Amino acid sequence: MKIINLLKNEKVCISCELFPPKAGTELQNALNIVSDIAEIGPHFMSVTYGAGGTSAGQTLAIARAIEGSNRPALAHLTCIDADEVKIDDVLGQLHTSGVQNILALRGDAVNGNSGAFAHASDLMAKIKSSGDFCVGGACYPEGHPEAGSLDKDIANTKRKIDSGCDFLVTQMVFDNNIIYNYMYRLLRHGIDVPVVAGIMPVTNARQINRICELSGTKLPPNYRAIVEKFADDPEALKQAGIAYATGQIVDLIANGLKNIHVYTMNRPEIIGGIMKNLSEIVK
Ligand code: FAD
Repeated sequence: MKIINLLKNEKVCISCELFPPKAGTELQNALNIVSDIAEIGPHFMSVTYGAGGTSAGQTLAIARAIEGSNRPALAHLTCIDADEVKIDDVLGQLHTSGVQNILALRGDAVNGNSGAFAHASDLMAKIKSSGDFCVGGACYPEGHPEAGSLDKDIANTKRKIDSGCDFLVTQMVFDNNIIYNYMYRLLRHGIDVPVVAGIMPVTNARQINRICELSGTKLPPNYRAIVEKFADDPEALKQAGIAYATGQIVDLIANGLKNIHVYTMNRPEIIGGIMKNLSEIVK
């Protein structure tokens, strides 16, 4: 099934993100997580792709397992350092596996980009010309760290749409007002594809500080107070993180943003906690 149909209909759509184990490590545990999360009932599941393609096989295996669990899979694909042959190979395997949805990304450049595709928009054009895939892209409500300004980044995001991108998934955001402001700016740039809001329940204080530092995402003062208060009590922080994320999601739905992507960090109890809290809202 093409994810764009879920995003465009009237119903709330809750999806979640998984990451594959590193190449050469145990796959079975990750496959068990797929079936545990599928039972909780997200509308689709995405699986990340290691920049440079080192864990491509693992991403494919997880994407296949998601499709096997009767949920649409959204397979991430990065193009940094990749040549056309590598991308053709992965696209062929996704097609053969019945995966119809791809989140096309550049990936992070550690030593520059020696690949055939400079930007995600180039990869999107390639995917669209290679087969009947539904293609999504990343977007950054607080601006991508390399872009210089939010307006420049949105102008670059428009290039993704012009290259065939069907929908956007946001970087994690902890303050919904930032998303609302961003939606307004997207429309002013002529971007009107469905936008899926990325929500990350904070469950690890040290990890979230690092993620915010790397991605340029701001933790608002009220959330920072929660994280600091429960930093040394993982179960309390998990409960508080699920409660905060639930509040964000309810507010987004109430304001008409009904497509939500939850960064689950491969923990079924996190998406399970959120879905339980939303049982009367997401039916
Ligand atoms: P691009 O769209 O190429 O943008 C990169 C930078 O270049 C931006 O500053 C942009 O403004 C600028 N730019 C874009 N197009 C042009 C142009 N034509 N001319 C000039 N400048 C331009 N990383 C992984 O390795 N694996 C994953 O699975 C993964 N999943 C992700 C999922 C989501 C939802 C998000 C938000 C990010 C994910 N990332 C992942 C991280 C992502 O790869 C990095 O943020 C990366 O730095 C940028 O990727 P992009 O696809 O946005 O790149």
